[in-house]
Amino acid sequence: MSSVYRSTLTALAGSAGVALVIGLLDTAWGWATFALCLLAMLLYHVRHLARLARWAASPVAGRVPEGSGAWDEVLGALHRYERAAERREQQLGDALTRFRRAAQALPDGVVILDSANRIEWCNHTAELHLQIDGRADLGQPIANLVRDPQFVDYLATEEHAAPVRISRGPGLSLSLQLVQFGEAQKLLLSRDMTQSERVETMRRDFVANVSHELRTPLTVLVGFLETVRELKLDPQRVRDYLGMMGDQSARMQRIIDDLLTLSVLEAAPPPPTERVRVGPLLARLRADAEALSGGRHSITLHGEATTDLLGADSELASAFANLVSNAIRYTPAGGKVGLAWRDGADGASFSVEDTGLGIASEHIPRLTERFYRVDRSRSRETGGTGLGLAIVKHAVARHQATLDVESRPGAGSRFTVRFPAQRTLPLEPARQAEAG
Ligand code: ADP
Repeated sequence: MSSVYRSTLTALAGSAGVALVIGLLDTAWGWATFALCLLAMLLYHVRHLARLARWAASPVAGRVPEGSGAWDEVLGALHRYERAAERREQQLGDALTRFRRAAQALPDGVVILDSANRIEWCNHTAELHLQIDGRADLGQPIANLVRDPQFVDYLATEEHAAPVRISRGPGLSLSLQLVQFGEAQKLLLSRDMTQSERVETMRRDFVANVSHELRTPLTVLVGFLETVRELKLDPQRVRDYLGMMGDQSARMQRIIDDLLTLSVLEAAPPPPTERVRVGPLLARLRADAEALSGGRHSITLHGEATTDLLGADSELASAFANLVSNAIRYTPAGGKVGLAWRDGADGASFSVEDTGLGIASEHIPRLTERFYRVDRSRSRETGGTGLGLAIVKHAVARHQATLDVESRPGAGSRFTVRFPAQRTLPLEPARQAEAG
């Protein structure tokens, strides 16, 4: 038997008992007592009912009225139900917060659209990508805010399997995709494609450049080959042609060697941290410069190395040699080329200064791009591949060093590689004594 019945019957039985005892003395008083007891019970129930009705009119979580007797079970059950509902609500709230946090953390933009393509919710990335306001634009049709005709058409079609590409503001290229979910809701996903488009353009340009760079000497080579094969030439002519063919082959070889060097630099793990002896390296560079110049320039070397470098000897030697070779190649005969080394507590630097052609300021930021040349014919004449400074840039960056270029057309240039202090190493004691 439920406790509601039990406690009601117990109260009734108690009242009847008391009324019966009094009724034995005086029947009228017995009935009156019973009626009073029934009235008290009625008042008790009405009072609890009124409290419950008051709470039910505006239920406040955790404020379910307390009750006693028969009402204890009813209000207790309501209290438990209400607590369970509160827990469920809390769990749902937590799940929603987690979902929102996860959607906010996505690197892609997410917009939830209703069946009429109005904005229900969007994350911060979508706000940035689509230039919408997650609060003010709630309920707005997305097509009113993203008016790109391609996107508007895409929104109107039923077929959303493939994303659509649109440009949003200068230099922002987006890929937008709609995904259907629920009854008729949609997710609009936006992804920034600017970087990957840039990489794709660079890749296309690079392939076109390499093909062009190799095709030129190859065309010359094929031309000479045909001439030698088809025409009856005197032996001296043949030797001349073969010499020229040799030059073109050497040029192709240099381009391929430089491309391989670049790809190795790009793909290789960080350079080893071996000791690069700066003194002997500078002496070698100077000797190479003298040989390359063939006495046409005055070449000087300033600065005594009091530190060595930490890194890959071959990479640094090739980077420095490229700078020296450029200085000689772009400085007319009679000019000066100065190599300089400086080191101190704040790091070290190697610079190559020349009194050559110089470079106009608009070219300077692009010098380290592959195949970028200020003066194409001069670069070719002197055996340049257009890859030298790209190699220098990669090699020095791998050593946390920077490349600075100062130049004025007609006055000359200075290329400086600066190394941070952690890339320098005190000389070995024996060499310290020699240097001293
Ligand atoms: P290249 O093989 O053509 O020399 P680099 O990548 O070494 O290719 O250099 C890129 C371009 O920068 C060169 O074509 C040249 O126009 C310019 N340049 C590089 N070094 C110098 C310099 N010391 N003086 C003038 N111009 C230079």
